[in-house]
Amino acid sequence: AKDQGRNTYQFYTEGMQDREVSRLELDKDISQALAKDEFVLYYQPQLDLRDSSIKSVEALIRWQHPRRGLVQPMDFIPLAEESGRITDIGHWVVMAACKQLAAWRDTPFAHLRIAVNLSGRELDDEHIVDHIQSSLEANGVPPDRLEVELTEEVFIQNIEHNMNQLTRLHHLGVHLAIDDFGVGYSSLGYLRNFPVDLLKIDRSFITDVMERHDDAVITRAVINLAHNLGIEVVAEGVETAEQLRFLKNHRCDLIQGYFISRPVPADELEKALRSGKLE
Ligand code: C2E
Ligand code: CA
Ligand code: CA
Ligand code: CA
Repeated sequence: AKDQGRNTYQFYTEGMQDREVSRLELDKDISQALAKDEFVLYYQPQLDLRDSSIKSVEALIRWQHPRRGLVQPMDFIPLAEESGRITDIGHWVVMAACKQLAAWRDTPFAHLRIAVNLSGRELDDEHIVDHIQSSLEANGVPPDRLEVELTEEVFIQNIEHNMNQLTRLHHLGVHLAIDDFGVGYSSLGYLRNFPVDLLKIDRSFITDVMERHDDAVITRAVINLAHNLGIEVVAEGVETAEQLRFLKNHRCDLIQGYFISRPVPADELEKALRSGKLE
């Protein structure tokens, strides 16, 4: 049933004369799914190459659809962005992550940080910072246990508003990460101005890093750039031992990818961490 969700976007659009009908339907289904608690967070660990430990995990949303099985984010997040429903989803994600952090208190997983994804659209929402703060407080979670991943457009568009939002998050103590670094924008100036803790090198540079000289050059340059700015670096999409070795040799701080683990439900993550097989 794992890949059933792949075609859900088509499920909502296929054979429908009016694409608007399917959008409305998906939007209605998402709001019901929130009410019925059909979303779930999967967690993908990040391996710290400096001491071979897992200190953080990225939360990735899935939809346990009663008929479609496990629906992947690509099949509903883009439409939720368009409809604005992403705001409600984001609130749910932040609360769910905080609840998980609270559940890990007094367990062997108490040190873990959770990174959640927030889109530019979600950051537009005036209430998101307050929501993050109250979700942390309601669950008694120290703010530095939470990390927010933002794609580059957040640092390039609507700068005044976003700078204000991110500064508030930074002052709260929430960690900030740049997601998918290196795709889409050529501007680097924003690295000077925003209080960023972590930079995630996009998977597209890592996939062929052993075969393509250009990708290797860019990856090494990004690692050095980040370090010179006092920012930690994660490489995304690491799938082989050779890629791991390359990144370790070039002092990349952390790696994330199928070579370490696919995104898994919390109980599976706990089992894998307990068995020590991720380290
Ligand atoms: P992303 O934030 O760049 O997340 C990384 C994606 O790469 C995830 O796909 C993950 O499963 C996949 N991945 C991780 N390691 C590997 C690897 O080694 N090889 C390959 N081929 N893929 C790998 P996923 O979970 O399908 O999520 C896709 C995108 O959906 C995310 O990209 C993010 O943009 C969005 N997304 C997921 N959860 C949320 C959420 O809670 N809120 C928002 N706003 N967006 C989300
Ligand atoms: Ca991400
Ligand atoms: Ca990413
Ligand atoms: Ca992405």
